[in-house]
Amino acid sequence: MKNLLRSMAATVTVLLAFTVAPAATAATHELGEMVDYPLTFPVDGPHHYSDWFWAARSHGIHHAQDIMADKMTPVVAAASGTVRLVNWTSDPGMNPDRCCTVALRHDDGWESWYIHLNNDTPGTDDGLAWGIADGIVPGVHVEAGQLLGWVGDSQTAESTNPHLHFELRDPSKVIVNTFAALGEAGGNWLGSGPADPLFDGYRLLDVGTRGVDVRRLQDVLTSMGYAPGPIDGITGSRTIAEVTEFQGDVGLKTDGLAGRATRAALKARYGETVQESGTVEEGAGAEAPVTSSGILRKGSRGEDVRRVQQLLSDRGYSPGPIDGIFGSRTELAVLSFQEGSSLRVDGLVGPNTRTALGF
Ligand SMILES: [Zn+2]
Repeated sequence: MKNLLRSMAATVTVLLAFTVAPAATAATHELGEMVDYPLTFPVDGPHHYSDWFWAARSHGIHHAQDIMADKMTPVVAAASGTVRLVNWTSDPGMNPDRCCTVALRHDDGWESWYIHLNNDTPGTDDGLAWGIADGIVPGVHVEAGQLLGWVGDSQTAESTNPHLHFELRDPSKVIVNTFAALGEAGGNWLGSGPADPLFDGYRLLDVGTRGVDVRRLQDVLTSMGYAPGPIDGITGSRTIAEVTEFQGDVGLKTDGLAGRATRAALKARYGETVQESGTVEEGAGAEAPVTSSGILRKGSRGEDVRRVQQLLSDRGYSPGPIDGIFGSRTELAVLSFQEGSSLRVDGLVGPNTRTALGF
């Protein structure tokens, strides 16, 4: 009976660990922790994104997600809350020349930040317009899904494709990674199928790292017969030991740290384990040939594509099989490479991207 009670108590503990609402877990997160936080998707229109939380940019490491969308696509509140800052000021009579940022304090104490909102007269790049919705001033309460403004290319995004730079901060102001939460919110990420926080994210899972990607790692290892300990979302010594074991089994460097290569191997091996149907990325639009201008894009095939895949792979990106077929994974790798190289992020391999790759 005592044992039964103990095991029941253990079960309850485990269940609690999975059901605690974010509002109740006010404890400090680690920078970039992949969180499971309920969001309303902040861009209300066609868009795409990838996991760009750790992208290396010219001005340092990027701690946000960039959601690519056309200028003037509506940007809506990711949660209910109170507008805290507009254009970096909490003064409701702010200077409208300093366009275009909104910070929202959620009712549960978290914050979301919306940066690079529109600053152009539609159809131009004149920097003269205002991309924040009427009535969105500091102190105003908004509901989740309410219009805040419009996508643009203001501030440091002037030379890039328009996008929303979206940040989520916990109650102690730590910026967390919303990649998985955006997927849960119905976002259209660049890979195929729903975004997987383990297989599709790419931060290094070191000792003490926490998050939904770690929980997924433990779950995947367990289902493949490894014993990483409790599925608690915290990388402890047992998780590291089992990652090391797995790395040895597949011939990878045995450092216990799940980075890009280990994640890719886990994905491949897990795919075999659950006998998923094979990759579908070559299915749609596979006919597009190399264009006459020599620009390679999703659907392109041939020796040039194979070479691009090899160059991406050599630089630590994961284009999928080096097969000369430009599919979703190759496109994702190109986008990540462009993002990390401060190139125009369009997924097309044109002259600039070729040069940067050393093609
Ligand atoms: Zn950004």
